[in-house]
Amino acid sequence: MRVVICGGGVIGACTAWFLRRRGIDVIVVERADVAAAASGKAGGFLARDWCEGSPLDALARRSFAIHAQLPEQIAGDWGYRPMTAYSGFVAADGHPRRDAPSALGWLSNGVIIAQRIGTMETAAIVHPKKFTVAVMNAALAEGAEFRPGQVTGIMRDANGTTATGVEVDGGIVEADAVVIAMGPWSLLAAQWMSLPAVYGQRSPSIVYDTGTDAPADALFLEYEENGSAVSIEVFPRADGSTHITALSDIAPLPLDPAAVTPDHDAIARLQTMSERLSPLFRSERIIARQACFRPVTQDGLPLIGKVPQSEGLYVATGHNVWGILNAPATGEAMAQLIAEGATRNVDISPFDPARLAPLDPSLLQAR
Ligand SMILES: Cc1cc2nc3c(=O)[nH]c(=O)nc-3n(C[C@H](O)[C@H](O)[C@H](O)COP(=O)(O)OP(=O)(O)OC[C@H]3O[C@@H](n4cnc5c(N)ncnc54)[C@H](O)[C@@H]3O)c2cc1C
Repeated sequence: MRVVICGGGVIGACTAWFLRRRGIDVIVVERADVAAAASGKAGGFLARDWCEGSPLDALARRSFAIHAQLPEQIAGDWGYRPMTAYSGFVAADGHPRRDAPSALGWLSNGVIIAQRIGTMETAAIVHPKKFTVAVMNAALAEGAEFRPGQVTGIMRDANGTTATGVEVDGGIVEADAVVIAMGPWSLLAAQWMSLPAVYGQRSPSIVYDTGTDAPADALFLEYEENGSAVSIEVFPRADGSTHITALSDIAPLPLDPAAVTPDHDAIARLQTMSERLSPLFRSERIIARQACFRPVTQDGLPLIGKVPQSEGLYVATGHNVWGILNAPATGEAMAQLIAEGATRNVDISPFDPARLAPLDPSLLQAR
């Protein structure tokens, strides 16, 4: 059996690795580079039980456990480390605690820590780009093939029901099964098959070189500004980089993943906010100003499973803010579904693409 995976983000990489471990032939087709989009620009934060009470809970718990095991199973260093997480707020001018020392010594006065929301047992982090590349390299080392190119369509049999491959840059790559894992660009696949809409939600981020100065404290803060509050997230990583993100917005998704650029004003505002958090976040320590689009669905849950009304077509996307966390269990589930026809570790029925109405393809042709 040969499976073509469309997209070399974290979901495509994990699916490739779990399929290859079963001896299934895998070709990953990627338009830009491995982890070129959100999978290379995310924070990388992982939480075991923050999806409790939602249909994502079992997937997140399974994935959190696999993340902890992978450093023993795959070569490479992607900075997996447990960490503590805190919530709090940044006191605005005039607030009585504006000049109060922070409970965490590496933060500026006025950064008020409210509570600990994750412990070394329930929270962790990876460097998402290094993680995705390591998993992809492990799949390649096991015999998977990486094919640079843009997927432009799906091939079907004479009845039009069963996938027989994909069109890539005018050529054809034959396959017994096709997995759409193109992140927010999975939207374009709705032209080729019956798929619900996938949207892209943009977030800017700045990465600082903080070396060993920032401890393993993830921060989820409300930043008070002009009478309103903005959520800002800070993720110090094991390789000495600290990722800070806030201010997500709705922006048109560029057709080419390589054309995603940050909004200048949003980056400037994020930089000002970051400087208020800690003296570590000085401009000369900036190593990246970037933006990426999270893949989001109408109901906020991913699409994981068989594409309706087709044989041999699968989709795994729409992971929103938890794509790095949930990639390993998604890859494992996709491999089980394709190889055995059912999943064993996680019930993926809440993520069945058939739960949502398919997108009208004429809306895409109008773009
Ligand atoms: C600022 C930010 C911070 C985040 N922080 C976290 C976090 O801390 N923890 C967490 O769990 N998640 C986080 N996320 C979410 C996470 O990054 C995403 O959910 C995840 O990366 C999505 O992975 P993906 O593989 O589905 O898509 P992508 O990473 O978008 O990959 C899709 C790939 O498909 C390729 N592609 C597109 N079209 C084609 C085509 N036609 N042919 C071939 N290839 C194609 C693209 O080039 C791309 O490489 C964050 C996201 C953002 C934006």
